[in-house]
Amino acid sequence: MAIAAVEVQVLSSALHEGSPRRPFFVAGIPACATPAGLITSMPMAYAIAGEPAVGALGPFVAELRAALEDLGFERTEADEAALVVNVVDRARPRPFRRRSRGTFVAALHVLDASPPDPLREGYPVLVRALANLSLAFVPGEGVWFTTLERGSYLVPDARAVAARLAPLARSRLVIDNEFRPDLEPELWGGDEITASIAEAGRRLDTLGLLPAPFPVEELVDANDLRHIKRLYGIGGLSYGNLSARKDETRFWMSASGVDKARLETPGRDILLVSGYDAEHARIVLSVPPGIEPRRVSVDAIEHWRIYREHPDVGAILHVHAWLEGIPATEVNFPCGTEELAANVAELLAAEPDPDHAVIGLRNHGITATGASLEEILDRVAPRLLAQVPMS
Ligand SMILES: [Zn+2]
Repeated sequence: MAIAAVEVQVLSSALHEGSPRRPFFVAGIPACATPAGLITSMPMAYAIAGEPAVGALGPFVAELRAALEDLGFERTEADEAALVVNVVDRARPRPFRRRSRGTFVAALHVLDASPPDPLREGYPVLVRALANLSLAFVPGEGVWFTTLERGSYLVPDARAVAARLAPLARSRLVIDNEFRPDLEPELWGGDEITASIAEAGRRLDTLGLLPAPFPVEELVDANDLRHIKRLYGIGGLSYGNLSARKDETRFWMSASGVDKARLETPGRDILLVSGYDAEHARIVLSVPPGIEPRRVSVDAIEHWRIYREHPDVGAILHVHAWLEGIPATEVNFPCGTEELAANVAELLAAEPDPDHAVIGLRNHGITATGASLEEILDRVAPRLLAQVPMS
């Protein structure tokens, strides 16, 4: 119970600090997923923070301001902004410490030329600056975006950068967990479904589909690492997740930050998602008493929607890989946002057979549905491309 109390506290302070200055835009999201009282038509506020934008960065920042303001963003103080562009020194990125987790922070820095491996260049800046996104400006070329999901792509100019940032700053994370020690005793040791999830995790490992997480511990100290975990609602870095339906309303899902090749303990590595508390934007998990549960994967909200909207979907797999010719999301929303969940759900509903489908998450990976994880892997694995196209 103590854990539930902490989670609740984190959530309410985030909401309190974020309101009313940080309005939530939830256009296109059904009312069932919309916490009451959070919709407002207030304009979005942005701020440029950090180091002075000198050299070639000066004119770029001015263009970015103009482009954001054209999109309806208003300039404000960093403490009150929904979107903060934090100008950092690449060698020594100073974090912007947001007061509300709802604040979206992009760490902007300058490079002389496009890096040979933009992901390797941008990821450490993203992590060390405690940002949601790294933006590497290369004069004459554009801006390299790097995301926590290992996305890295070049965007040509300030106008395009602003257009990409706007929906991200408006997106809303659903990453709080409420643990209820009400799991029925016969499930404390797991069941045939948790066994199938563990088996699929091992199979993903054999297929080389579990990329090693970025060694974040080498980039930041323990304090900042805790901050990062809280910020993104993750238990640690790892990519991909698996889930399988338990019954009409519940599903088992892999925890966040665990090695998917070794999903061992039900209630800890594999969690039973038993509901979604839309009012408080919280994933509800049924756990055995006396176990210290991990957080569920941040994509639980996406899976929850899919299971609810498609009663015949038996399992869902998300990996950072790609398939030729699949429908894909337009906007690169971060993991765990309502917007990503809504986007995927919409594309899935438009598929001829939503129960056996594969949807692309732009610059990120795929979400596949099927009767079981085994069935999904049998169908999808032979066509999987390890490289996600970046655009
Ligand atoms: Zn992912």
